[in-house]
Amino acid sequence: GAKGEEVLRVEGLKKAFGGLLAVNGVSFALRRGEILALIGPNGAGKSTTFNLVTGTLIPDGGKVFLFGREVTGLAPFRIHRLGLGRTFQHPHLFPELSVLENAALGTYARTRAGFFRVLLGLHRKEEDQALATAYRALKRVGLESLAWERAERLTVGQQRLLEIARLLASGAAVLLLDEPGAGLRAGEKRELAHLLRSLAKEGYTVLLVDHDMDLIMGLADRVVVMNYGEKIAEGTPAEVQRNPLVRAAYLGE
Ligand code: ADP
Ligand code: MG
Repeated sequence: GAKGEEVLRVEGLKKAFGGLLAVNGVSFALRRGEILALIGPNGAGKSTTFNLVTGTLIPDGGKVFLFGREVTGLAPFRIHRLGLGRTFQHPHLFPELSVLENAALGTYARTRAGFFRVLLGLHRKEEDQALATAYRALKRVGLESLAWERAERLTVGQQRLLEIARLLASGAAVLLLDEPGAGLRAGEKRELAHLLRSLAKEGYTVLLVDHDMDLIMGLADRVVVMNYGEKIAEGTPAEVQRNPLVRAAYLGE
């Protein structure tokens, strides 16, 4: 249906590793409040595309626009500061810190210096503000009752929710999620899908990579399918599921 203004656009992205074209002319765009899933067989170029969008890798060709502004080649922390945050396939948490402290780390992600100030200790008032922001984010994902537990005590599903809370605490409006459903039980997947849909309704924009067709079918507004570095299909989940090119790509895996 009708969504908000364009938030993220990639145009003709290219990245080669040696002689291998990992990403070869990929384009797509997301509007505010949309959930787009990037799928494809192993080695299709999904993670590389993610890393080109977040600034972790610099493209050999093509452009990335965030809120209408070109961000191609900007450092990851600058792109993050402009409102784009990511999670990792394997959650990046500090196991011995509390759930609340892990979420609070997101609030310092906007400046590079900020992270070191966390390690060095902060002024009391700043710390209280960070913890209040973090607590609100925990409530948003339903983890507030675990705020004072060590992060290592969380289940994989709860760790993924904590990573999302940290993104929310960081002020990110565009959420890039790398395999958010991996390792989750069926009930946890439904909870995750419910959370992501409600965040999208509030105006968050979500780009996710996942192999889990069940999760994607009930979650994504649109799907982009990659194979051998190229976009081979784009459409609603139902459209791409019956696309012969997509079926061939998955069967040929
Ligand atoms: P996907 O996430 O879809 O599984 P990737 O983006 O990780 O695919 O990888 C796309 C292709 O690029 C693969 O053939 C992979 O082996 C290769 N590749 C990815 N990263 C690197 C790298 N840093 N150096 C060399 N080759 C890489
Ligand atoms: Mg990958």
